[in-house]
Amino acid sequence: MPRQFFVGGNFKMNPISRDQKQTIIGVLNSADLDTATEIVVAPPSLYLIPLRDTVRTELQVSAQNCYYKDSGAFTGEISPAQLVDAKIPYVILGHSERRSIFNETSELVAQKTKAALNATLKVILCVGETLQERELGQTAAVVEKQLQAVVNVLQESDWSGVVIAYEPVWAIGTGKVATSAQAQEAHADIRQFLSKAVSPAVSENTRIIYGGSVTAANCKELSTQSDVDGFLVGGASLKPEFVDIINAKRN
Ligand code: PEP
Repeated sequence: MPRQFFVGGNFKMNPISRDQKQTIIGVLNSADLDTATEIVVAPPSLYLIPLRDTVRTELQVSAQNCYYKDSGAFTGEISPAQLVDAKIPYVILGHSERRSIFNETSELVAQKTKAALNATLKVILCVGETLQERELGQTAAVVEKQLQAVVNVLQESDWSGVVIAYEPVWAIGTGKVATSAQAQEAHADIRQFLSKAVSPAVSENTRIIYGGSVTAANCKELSTQSDVDGFLVGGASLKPEFVDIINAKRN
């Protein structure tokens, strides 16, 4: 079965007002969207439920993070069980901003991934190297190490609930997009790694999406690469051009 194209919008800690959120959702609700693509939007947690209730049915909603415990004294956290109860199907885990600003280790990301999948959430699992690591030729090794932590705690069947987002840190929010050749090479390396570390079937079936300064102008070319199964979009997901990115595969 071909892998379904996937486009996610990561709003990060935006927008700043409910009015702005309504404007973004209004654009998506009235747009002509490619229904062959799986579309997910990840607003700040405050807006998860209102957005779930107002967004058109073709769009799914994702949290931007969760903890690995079900409940308890973990001030400021949201649990996988709470997201499932609120009928939120997806969660983004391991975003580079969580890894670098909030010091999340690959082991913590793996623990959260396992807990989210156990609770029946689907996970957008982010990995990626810094500029320095790329310049030192360490891209594949860094990404494999991030993935190995997750491989260590998942069963083969868990991978059906995972979308891997390859997001080079140097491309996130910088306007410096990876070339389609750089993206394809990194995605092919990830697929090869999955084949060895998990199984050929998981390697073949797991969607690997690209994130890092994707725009309406660069999405078409990136989408032609055989191992690029979609996008995770930050800044541009807040703008009307997000519609063009969702429709990247449509001729
Ligand atoms: C992201 O935050 O996941 C991201 C890819 O951001 P941007 O598109 O703004 O680079």
